[in-house]
Amino acid sequence: MKHNIPVQDYGQLASEMADAVSQCVHCGFCLPACPTYNLLHQEMDSPRGRIILMKSVLEREIDLEEAVPYIDHCLGCLACQTVCPSGVQYGNLLTPFKAYSETVRRRPAEERFSRWVTKETLPKPARFRLATQVAKISKPFASIAPTRFQAMLDLVPEDIPGAERLPSTFPAQGKRQAKVALQVGCVQQVLAQKINLATLRVLSKNGIEVVIPSAQGCCGALALHTGDMDTAFNLASNNLDNFPKDVDAIISNAAGCGSAMHEYPQLFKGSKYEELASLFAEKVIDISVFLTEIDLEPIPPLENQLKIAYHDACHLSHAQGVTREPRELLGKVPNLSLLPINEEDLCCGSAGSYNLEQPVIAQQLGQRKIHNILDVEPEIIVTGNIGCLIQLQNHLNQKLQNTDEPQLNPPVMHTIELIDQAYRNEL
Ligand code: SF4
Ligand code: SF4
Repeated sequence: MKHNIPVQDYGQLASEMADAVSQCVHCGFCLPACPTYNLLHQEMDSPRGRIILMKSVLEREIDLEEAVPYIDHCLGCLACQTVCPSGVQYGNLLTPFKAYSETVRRRPAEERFSRWVTKETLPKPARFRLATQVAKISKPFASIAPTRFQAMLDLVPEDIPGAERLPSTFPAQGKRQAKVALQVGCVQQVLAQKINLATLRVLSKNGIEVVIPSAQGCCGALALHTGDMDTAFNLASNNLDNFPKDVDAIISNAAGCGSAMHEYPQLFKGSKYEELASLFAEKVIDISVFLTEIDLEPIPPLENQLKIAYHDACHLSHAQGVTREPRELLGKVPNLSLLPINEEDLCCGSAGSYNLEQPVIAQQLGQRKIHNILDVEPEIIVTGNIGCLIQLQNHLNQKLQNTDEPQLNPPVMHTIELIDQAYRNEL
């Protein structure tokens, strides 16, 4: 598509935005893959429509405010990028566009407040833990809270585990195969430290020494995807400074964090951190991929056949291109079978903080996903991202609460928890 974007006016990432626009041939192949087009049936809520909207804003043909509602509806799931035959890097347009738009407009007060609450709690584990306690007490009053805050309260689990510190290193059992660093995730370490503990046990069992840098912080994903580039830059540079350089890999067990850390080279383009960011990102690897690349200790056979449904987190499948490896890893558990689910490429509506910012669309996608999953009657639901895990559990709970019919109630767990439990004969 031809464009007249004055790239000199939009900073470091302007050429990537312009490239994405110029590669789009307007074919529309991406429309059926797009969750919001699927739900809202509007061209402007499709990838192609959004590309034209962003192009028109950047060319100063339309006012930013005309485009913002449709850009805000976008989940950033990148399903459009996966299916695009022209190789349009939609993410290279969306992320810098959001950053630009946040610098030139002022959101309404309620949005600013809820974004501030998210920014000041989710990436800060101690505050987030306190906030979850307050939210738990406030849950009975959810119906009188504004919609955005209702969504926040809905997502707080009934049982919030107590704080559990991780060691600074976790030794390898037997002959050491490699030394890695673990990124522990800010939300994950409060709501599901058990995922990190399972990761440590499985890595150790397989001869991997793990370092857990105590000064690591948030990966910056939430800031990056809400257009707050300064915060993302600060958080990411903290990680560049504090992760050890002498490790073979940086393990991520949260798809959203892994995807954001792969974006560091783009974030630091043109800065003094550019080379360091590239070296860092090259080492970032999802736990499921890492475990398929090493000599994995055999997993003992399950006593009984187990049928599970695997949900692809968009930030793993579309953003990192990881779909085969989690299935291959789960396939190493003898007597486990994977059930194919309908619309498996469709986002569950979690998408970082999307289910807080766009609760109506997120609710519809969550309901649709859990319906598709329960349709195949799995005994366990498995996914590779804490955000998806919370979203799926929330919608499973809602389904159980809203019916008197007998319903399946399979546990929802992370891929690595299932592998850990299989090793420990707990399934
Ligand atoms: S599939 Fe790709 S080229 Fe075709 S309209 Fe969508 S983004 Fe543009
Ligand atoms: S990122 Fe997802 S929601 Fe946004 S345009 Fe692409 S497919 Fe649609």
